Amino acid sequence: MGAPDDGRLARGLEEARSRSLLRTRRVVASPQGARVQVEGRELLNFSSNDYLGLANHPALRDAAKRAIDAYGVGAGASPLVSGYLEPHREAEERFAAFVGFPSALLFPSGYAANLGILTALADRSTEIFADKLNHACLNDGALLSRATFTRYPHLDMAALEERLRVSQASTRIVATDTVFSMDGDEAPLEALVDLCETHHAWLVLDDAHGIGVLGPRGRGCLEGLVARSPRIVYMATLGKALGGYGAFAAGAPEVVDWLVQRARTYIYSTALPPMAGAAAVAAIELLEADATPVDTLRDRIAAFRSACEAAHVPLMPSRTAVQPVLVGDAQRALDVAARLRDEGFLVPAIRPPTVPEGASRLRVSLSAAHAEPDVRELARALARALARAKPLA
Ligand SMILES: *Cc1c(COP(=O)(O)O)cnc(C)c1O
Repeated sequence: MGAPDDGRLARGLEEARSRSLLRTRRVVASPQGARVQVEGRELLNFSSNDYLGLANHPALRDAAKRAIDAYGVGAGASPLVSGYLEPHREAEERFAAFVGFPSALLFPSGYAANLGILTALADRSTEIFADKLNHACLNDGALLSRATFTRYPHLDMAALEERLRVSQASTRIVATDTVFSMDGDEAPLEALVDLCETHHAWLVLDDAHGIGVLGPRGRGCLEGLVARSPRIVYMATLGKALGGYGAFAAGAPEVVDWLVQRARTYIYSTALPPMAGAAAVAAIELLEADATPVDTLRDRIAAFRSACEAAHVPLMPSRTAVQPVLVGDAQRALDVAARLRDEGFLVPAIRPPTVPEGASRLRVSLSAAHAEPDVRELARALARALARAKPLA
């Protein structure tokens, strides 16, 4: 009789519900794009990480279809066994050239890549230094590696330097998001490279929200960086601006060789469907040939920010596609999101534990797929919804 946990799950679910923290899903009945079909309604979509509108782009669809015809839908095995197919190899080569590294390795996802990188580089005598607002999968990788895990206040280079200075660890790794996924702000890369040089640390960079967005042609956060240090292990995902699925780790050839030997999420997991490699190649080719998607996204970001300023909607300091509107209370964030949905806008309310307690927000993500009037209308709708949603008691 009864659940094997004395009702712990039921109580946990009820508590999440009562604190407005229960997570629910909505079925989307259309491809990603500026507009999506959700539960029988068409909504303007400001919730997707498809920043360049590539997830349903004809060039990527065609490349994936051709790969299915040539290679089928499944890779059949881990890359080390027999799952390393020509589209995977080509994607690695093209990606490395795109971001300016000698070599790259294709992982099943960004989550898997971060777990693989950190567990392969670290051991029990390692100390991993992590920005407080890093993505969950960098934290999970650090915990899984059994290294000493030291978090520093968000973007605080003085605090990081102090922690590095007193560290006794034989191996040091600084790990950071380059663009913070719920804030849209950026890590100070030059300062991080300098600190890692001085203190003999690896620098693991998660460019999930920088690839396709930052740098000329969307080549990512490192484009234009003065020092291209061999200490950098660079990770970028394919599931956001690049429109597909999967992720790359890039770095010195020795780093990539080491990951092939030791990254458990690479070794013990089936390779991506070959079509994911083909879609990645198509995305990179598209960006190399045409600056329009990246430039259009930048125009939309500028237009949204100026429209919010005009409508007195307070934004956070972000020049990226992630443009959060801080609300504070979780229930109020849900209320604002519901009002926006009533007006035809899909904007997610992001609540703890994804963001700190009291820092719930609407996470607006912009895309090159949006038309300029779309982002201006959203700014006005946000102003109305914020004014009408129940203010904090
Ligand atoms: C989305 C995201 C990931 C995970 O990538 P997936 O390919 O979706 O697993 C990793 N890091 C950051 C910062 C992300 O936003």
